Amino acid sequence: SAAPSAIAAEPAPSEVVGVDLGDRSYPIYIGAGLLDRGDLIARHVPGRRVLVVTNTTVAPLYLDRCVKALSAEGNLQVDSVVLPDGEEYKTIEVVQQIWDKAMECRLNRQSTFVALGGGVIGDMTGFAAASFLRGVHFLQIPTTVMAQVDSSVGGKTGVNHPLGKNMIGAFYQPTCVLIDTETLDTLPDRELASGVSEIVKYGLIRDAALFHWLEDNMEKLMARDQQALTYAIQRSCINKAEVVAQDELEGGVRATLNLGHTFGHAIETGQGYGVWLHGEAVSSGMVMAAHMSHKLGWVDASLPQRVRELLLRANLPVDAPPSMTPDQFRTIMAVDKKVQDGKLRLVLLKGKLGGCVVTGDFDGSKLTETLDEFCH
Ligand code: NAD
Ligand code: MG
Repeated sequence: SAAPSAIAAEPAPSEVVGVDLGDRSYPIYIGAGLLDRGDLIARHVPGRRVLVVTNTTVAPLYLDRCVKALSAEGNLQVDSVVLPDGEEYKTIEVVQQIWDKAMECRLNRQSTFVALGGGVIGDMTGFAAASFLRGVHFLQIPTTVMAQVDSSVGGKTGVNHPLGKNMIGAFYQPTCVLIDTETLDTLPDRELASGVSEIVKYGLIRDAALFHWLEDNMEKLMARDQQALTYAIQRSCINKAEVVAQDELEGGVRATLNLGHTFGHAIETGQGYGVWLHGEAVSSGMVMAAHMSHKLGWVDASLPQRVRELLLRANLPVDAPPSMTPDQFRTIMAVDKKVQDGKLRLVLLKGKLGGCVVTGDFDGSKLTETLDEFCH
């Protein structure tokens, strides 16, 4: 007679990082080939109905596999919606297409929205989930480095407003994040570099060991060595999870994750959404912040130099766009979300590598000098 059919123990993902938020805690699974692990995803799908949200670039690459993996899980009924691709489509009008699909499919409160794609898809899907029926379940399958190390973790969701990036949104945590590192094989080089910029950020604001590792391994990472990618992604998720667990709603320490972002948002907005990638703008922004920190006497001259050299090895920009003026920077920076009572606050480096502060208490002439030096 045939041997009893053993239920094969599924291989564990190579890494699991926890995001500790009390009863809203969730796991981040990291590993190669996890997209096929419908069982892992299904654990975090409480109802029967799933809506996978993706875009026209990611759909031909991964949508079938994702839907198959989920449909293979007993009684899940899986629908999907494919949105246009691009930062310029990160709008409330495009979020409406998600709600339209959910209404057509008659999804109920027990439904789950799955974001399959980069940060744009993740941010929009999360916002759509936060507000559909006043909140349905939501999980993230990020497929860019940017989304895997940053945007899929921590619950910031939303869309752009014509007058400012990410101005409309909600804090809404996913029920799990599933990172398949192999999806990065198809990512364009420029997008890979853009995400690496945020990895460098974690090194600068709180993880000197990661910064040293990057100085030793940048070429491996850029060559998409699977081990190097897994390490850098895991380390980044740990850093993000720790910060978010301490300060979910950005009342304090979470703002440090915005190193380079105030300068960077000015670049993104000034150039028009999508001209500079988010991580590219953050890259130049981090060099500007490091430079200003040195001008204030808060870090050694060697630090801005090391930051610049490391980012150059990732093929990232380290200067302001030639067309931008100091006035343009100032105007756009004045509407930054960190502005309090009319005072601009910046994330600046201070002390040893891995140390930073969020402060409005700095000599303003050093900001002026920095803008003048970076704008030609
Ligand atoms: P993106 O979502 O636009 O993706 C970049 C490009 O890569 C797109 O063309 C996309 O279709 C394509 N793509 C995605 N996965 C792919 C794959 N595996 N193979 C081939 N192509 C693929 O950009 P992004 O850099 O992932 O995210 C940027 C967005 O994320 C910005 O809107 C930014 O504001 C947001 N963001 C949010 C947070 C947060 O905390 N919520 C943090 C950082 C960034
Ligand atoms: Mg960012």
